[in-house]
Amino acid sequence: MSSNSKGSAILHGKCPRCRKGTMFPYSAYNLIRFHKMNEDCPVCGLRFEREPGFFFGAMYISYAFSVAIFTTVGVALTVLGDYSLYTYLIGIGGSVLLLLPVSFRYSRILFLHLFGGIDFDPQYGR
Ligand SMILES: [Zn+2]
Repeated sequence: MSSNSKGSAILHGKCPRCRKGTMFPYSAYNLIRFHKMNEDCPVCGLRFEREPGFFFGAMYISYAFSVAIFTTVGVALTVLGDYSLYTYLIGIGGSVLLLLPVSFRYSRILFLHLFGGIDFDPQYGR
């Protein structure tokens, strides 16, 4: 994957137009600020929130991530041993909480890249 491909831009949370500017100014592991997002691209100035409430739709992607985590952890616990309901609740709840910053960010990144209607323009970000 080239460093300027769409996949790479999504993986690294870059702007869909210039693929250089970052969408999130802080690390995903910064537990206080992981949800803070740049309003505009710091490189090309693209406004990330395409219209008021644009990222509301990212909740559907976030929901899909949560279902995937539920299923993965649930199946893993079932395969690994015969655990109590309590173990399932802690295991699944803990996994969803631990992965919340990642799930939150990638739902927004994917939503903007897939449904933002923004084309890559190599003239930006030089
Ligand atoms: Zn940009």
